[in-house]
This record gives sequence, structure tokens and C-alpha cells, in this order.
Amino acid sequence: MTDAAPVVTRFAPSPTGFLHIGGARTALFNQLYARGRGGRFLLRIEDTDQARSTPEATQAIFDGLRWMGLDWDGEAVSQASRVARHREAAEELLARGGAYRCWATREEIDAARAQAAAEKRPMVFQSPWRDADPATAPDAPCVVRLKAPREGETTVEDAVQGTVRWANAQLDDLILLRSDGTPTYMFAVVVDDHDMGVTHVIRGDDHLTNAARQSLIYAAMGWPTPTFAHIPLIHGPDGAKLSKRHGALGVDAYRDMGYLPEAMRNYLARLGWSHGDDEYFTDAEATAWFDLSGVNKAPARFDFAKLADLNGRHMRDADDARLVAACLDLMARQGRPMADAATQARFAQAMPGLKLRAKTLVELIETAYYIFATRPLEIDEKAAKLLDPAGRDILAKLTPSLAAVTDWRSAAIEAQTRAFAEAHGLKLGAVAQPLRAAATGRAVSPGVFDVLETLGRDESLARVGDQTG
Ligand code: GLU
Repeated sequence: MTDAAPVVTRFAPSPTGFLHIGGARTALFNQLYARGRGGRFLLRIEDTDQARSTPEATQAIFDGLRWMGLDWDGEAVSQASRVARHREAAEELLARGGAYRCWATREEIDAARAQAAAEKRPMVFQSPWRDADPATAPDAPCVVRLKAPREGETTVEDAVQGTVRWANAQLDDLILLRSDGTPTYMFAVVVDDHDMGVTHVIRGDDHLTNAARQSLIYAAMGWPTPTFAHIPLIHGPDGAKLSKRHGALGVDAYRDMGYLPEAMRNYLARLGWSHGDDEYFTDAEATAWFDLSGVNKAPARFDFAKLADLNGRHMRDADDARLVAACLDLMARQGRPMADAATQARFAQAMPGLKLRAKTLVELIETAYYIFATRPLEIDEKAAKLLDPAGRDILAKLTPSLAAVTDWRSAAIEAQTRAFAEAHGLKLGAVAQPLRAAATGRAVSPGVFDVLETLGRDESLARVGDQTG
């Protein structure tokens, strides 16, 4: 690192009622960048829109970030609570001559817009109050505008987009304070970022033009401009900007679909950023590797199959007890009754086999149906095919052999079943498949002899009996 000042990044969501998947990625990039450099990652809630910024909407952002495992340093800052400071900064700028009060009326602004349209040029409003004597001002409310340079150009050295230029003639004297004294978004962001000591602004590239205007405010205030990094937005698999029709947008929906937060972090880190060919990595690796130079300039396409694959790998590497807890939590949210302690213990015992066969917790819970179900089992279509008359006949003949197993463990049950198959000239599969179908109600499960051991002798024999009796 050549920067002398410690890195400070921030995530600055507007509370919209849920944490958007794109916002989660922005937050992640900010966290990785700061923590990889011994810096701080801050959170600011941009809650100045009173109508939308309910406490519930803000809570949804906190919940989304916490579930994602993103943790900000210190207290979250409320932008709305800082309005007095925004006003004070505007006064400071007025005193420095970098801003002016403007009494232009709606009619004047509309007329300027109509004239620009007639001349087929973009509207850049030039207020008559920029150089007027304030002594001539009417006794009426006014706005405060930035006295932006009219000549030359504004350049943003963006860490992702490179050098981006705007002709100052295209940038108007933007409003800093509205006539009711409230700050505009553009001004509040700059004052807050400055006061919070933010050194790097990493956010979606829909804010790139704002960076030009914000740079002008920094310059006028005499404050150092942070490093900007505008990351391309997430697109859907078809290349269009990610929207509801592509699938879920809120991270809470991904939680409910059974993705693990570490898989989400891994997937979102890779979405628009790369480190060589690495696809599967830990948080520690991502933190050590993340750099803005690895952020791609082209929009990233969301790939649901890849997310599921990564999730499956993270599940395999996850601690069994944690997976049990996460599944029980998900089942509770799905409205299922809480399993009793004995069932939970069986679930934990089966977890090493279960987690190898699912890509999401939802799939895992489905595969674990045999553990939570009570007799008589619901037999799905594929399992029903295995329990045709021939399959049931095999089970009926197998029953006495199974009942003769005294030491009810996987190896002993398997040995007895093999001996039965050989004695009847059957392949093991011809016996094991209907046995699995009867024991689990499904055609796919962890190893059937492990399943039987987990279920216990009485329950296993009863389930087989349900199909043969
Ligand atoms: N509140 C803005 C948003 O949610 C972000 C502002 C910023 O990052 O500068 O899009």
C-alpha cells in the first residue's frame, strides 16, 4: 500500500425494505477492501426520504447484512440525523463564496428548459442569482446552489472505470439545500463521507455521473476527494439489468432458498471480480486477494447454476452441527413443527451423508424427509415405481432376514441383505432399491444401510411392513 492514511470504506444503502443482492455485493466489496488493508468498513443508512425510510425498512438492511455475515465497524450512521450538519456545511460554503442563494422561480426554470428544448441542446440552468447582488433578493424562501465552474472539465480518476471526463459546461449549479432547508442527496453524501473520513467510495456505476458533481463539491469545500471505484451493475443471465423477472432480488429470499451465507459471499465476490481462476475460496482468501484492479469493467451476469454448485461445495465443507441448526431454522421459517430431540439427533447423525447429496439446504431437507416423516410415509412417484408388485415381493421375502439382524448397524444389515440377494440370485440393487423406497419414500437418499441404522430396527421394519403388509 502506498496510501498513508488508513483505508475507510462505507456502504450507504437507502432503506427500501430489503437488502438487494447488488447492494450486498457492494457492501462485500467495501468490507473486503477495507479489511484486507487493516482499514475500517462503515455503514450509513441514507434515510432522508421520510416516506420510505421506516424503522422496519432500516431493520431489514441490518438483518440482511448480518445474515450475509457482513459486519460494519462502529455504529451505523443515520443520514437523516445529520441534517443540521449538512446545513452548517452549506453555510460554510456560502461564506467561502463556493455557493450562492438562488430565488429563481419555477416559471424561470421552466422557461429555460423550454428554450433549451427549442434549441435542441441539453438544459443547463444558469441562475441569474449566481452573480446578482443578494440585497435585491425578494423576501421569499430560496435554495442554495453550488457555484460550479463553467469552463474546463471535471475529471474522475476511477479505480475501475479509469479516467472519466465531463465538460463543466454540461454540469449545472446543482442545488445543495432545498428551499425547506433540507439537503439534497448529492450534498449530504459528500458531507457525510467527508465527516466519516471515507477514503474509498466503492459503489454501483449508476452513481458515476454523481461522482463528477460530488468532486465539484469536494473541491469547493476544500476537502480531499476520496478514491472512487464504480463497479458495473449485476445483470441477469440474458444480459439485461437484474430485475425481478430473473429471480429473487433480496438476500432474504436466498436465505429461504437454502443458500449458506459463506457461499453467497464467495459467489458475490466472484461476480464482477476475479483472482486468476479461483472460484471456490474462503473469506480469509477473499480478504487477502481482493483488489480494485481485479474488478471487471463489463457487467457481471448472475448465474444461478454456479451459485448452487458453490453452495453445494460450501455445504460439504461446513460443520455438521451448524448445518443441522441452519436446517432446523429454515424448517421453522417454512412453518414446520419443531422436531423432537430424538429426531434432531438422528438428523445430526445422518448429516455427513446428507450434505454430500444436496446443493441447497432446501434440497437437503427434502432428502432428509425420511428422518422427519412419520408413518405411513408419503411415497413419491419414483419410489412408487420401485415398489411395484415385484419390488414388494422381494421386500416380503427379505423381511425375516432383516428381522434376524440383532446388532442393528449398517455393516450387519448390509451383510444380511447381501446374503439374501445371493441366495435368491438377485443383484444387490434389486433388493436395495425397493428397500430404500420403503424406508425413505424416495428413490434417492444417503446409503440405504446407513439410513436403516439411523432409523433404528423397529422403525425400519415397520416401514418395510407398511409396504408388504
Ligand atoms: N444511497 C445510495 C443508493 O442506495 C448510495 C449512495 C452512495 O453509495 O454514494 O444507491
